[in-house]
Amino acid sequence: RPNRSVPVNTTNPLESSSKHNIHPLKVPNLIGGKFVDSQACAIIDVINPATQEVVSEVPLTTYEEFKAAVSAAKQAYPSWRNTPVTTRQRIMFKLQELIRRDIDKLAMNITIEQGKTLKGAQGDVLRGLEVVEHACGMATLQMGEFVPNASNGIDTYCLREPLGVCAGICPFNFPAMISLWMFPIAVTCGNTFILKPSEKNPGASMILAALAMEAGLPHGVLNIVHGTNDIVNYICDDDDIKAVSFVGSNTAGMNIYARAAARGKRVQSNMGAKNHAIIMPDASMEATLNALVAAGFGAAGQRCMALSTAVFVGGSIPWEEELVACAKALKVNAGTEPGADLGPVISKEAKDRICRLVQNDVGSGARLVLDGRNIVVPGYEYGNFVGPTILCDVTTNMECYKEEIFGPVLLCMKADSLEEAITIVNRNKCSNGASIFTTSGVAARKFQNEVEAGLVGINVPVPVPLPFSSFTGSKLSFAGDLNFCGKAGVQFYTQIKTVAQQWKDLPSRGVLLANPPLS
Ligand code: NAD
Repeated sequence: RPNRSVPVNTTNPLESSSKHNIHPLKVPNLIGGKFVDSQACAIIDVINPATQEVVSEVPLTTYEEFKAAVSAAKQAYPSWRNTPVTTRQRIMFKLQELIRRDIDKLAMNITIEQGKTLKGAQGDVLRGLEVVEHACGMATLQMGEFVPNASNGIDTYCLREPLGVCAGICPFNFPAMISLWMFPIAVTCGNTFILKPSEKNPGASMILAALAMEAGLPHGVLNIVHGTNDIVNYICDDDDIKAVSFVGSNTAGMNIYARAAARGKRVQSNMGAKNHAIIMPDASMEATLNALVAAGFGAAGQRCMALSTAVFVGGSIPWEEELVACAKALKVNAGTEPGADLGPVISKEAKDRICRLVQNDVGSGARLVLDGRNIVVPGYEYGNFVGPTILCDVTTNMECYKEEIFGPVLLCMKADSLEEAITIVNRNKCSNGASIFTTSGVAARKFQNEVEAGLVGINVPVPVPLPFSSFTGSKLSFAGDLNFCGKAGVQFYTQIKTVAQQWKDLPSRGVLLANPPLS
């Protein structure tokens, strides 16, 4: 890749914003309200996937620094949990305003570190912003329950109390949205938080943390540490951390789920996916083609809700030519370039893996009707670009079907009937989402009832809910029982305390040894 001493784009809010720095920026940790450089010797380069330029350097935070972050979060907790919920909400009101103010800066950082188009990066921020807006209503969301006179003058009520120090571990593909799935809800419930962004693109989390502090979040309520496996293991093992939110791959997610649960923590683990679209013969052609292309290739297929597999019911793929034409029309370019539809994938390794999976199944009988593997983008010859790629006649035993590709590759399969198509979806071990395209209410209803998927779309390609509903993966796409966002999201970051109170003068009834519920 090119020389490291190229001018780097400095979108980290914590350092000079000069475009003429010749040294990559060091990404600091955030501990107790201070951005502090790590003393770690080991670092990881954050690389712009369109150019291979080094954007910044992420430290592998040391154990001592991690413990300092936990200690800061622990120290901040008592006064933060006793801060009125209205004050906590007000900070979220301010935070959403500041995120809107700085959306361009956030989006530029995401595009440079992650590769997605500026428009996609703005969407990444906006989806997260909706969670902050949701957190503004925390008083109502966290409200308890009251039963007056449950028994003989005794009232019972349930309070939803914060847990203490919580932690979140993020993936690379939505650097703003996924941080914002986690810390705004956790802290507005009264918890303090340790965030571990993806080592591939920590910038958005750093900007968001700076904004949260500008909005008035007290020191120590949100802390950030960087690194990879070791820091994640420290999080899982630390007895002062009560809950862990994870989003990422199955390998990491299942390890984290097992390791953190073994230490008595709550865990919510959102993992990899294989999302199917079932296309009925009566589906409207133009709308369905647009939906398939947008959901298959948008964000370069690096979405846990990417529709990566299209199952055509009726024994044939009726619109193959039109599908190829529609996908071919997409513009592959650096995300900063105007008019780009899809940017590069995250790394050279990711590109090599995608190309290998495609090649493997071309050898096993899949038909490659659009090949984007050798695309060269003028001016960005070093970029990790993969153009839209379509494989037809894919079968369930092929590697590209069994693996999550996580790139701009659409697999097309055939099924004779809706039953057969639903069986294909249900036999897959992962499923965040599944959609059907049809004009038949009967088919749609059968699909909705019988499909095993967390998020179901009916003529909706990417049925990601708004934050007042939960993001619900199923099968191996999720481990835990309380999902992100919605009611479950608040439940995850709170525990119930049930109180029985009696305020009246009672004549003595002696010692009651029987054990009625309340007496
Ligand atoms: P990843 O698992 O490689 O990394 C996620 C986080 O885990 C990172 O912070 C990383 O440092 C850490 N990590 C990685 N390997 C680890 C290990 N062995 N032990 C401990 N920690 C480890 O995932 P990624 O490549 O960043 O993200 C892509 C994956 O995330 C895809 O599988 C995608 O489907 C999934 N994803 C799922 C959802 C969802 O809601 N279900 C949303 C977004 C992304």
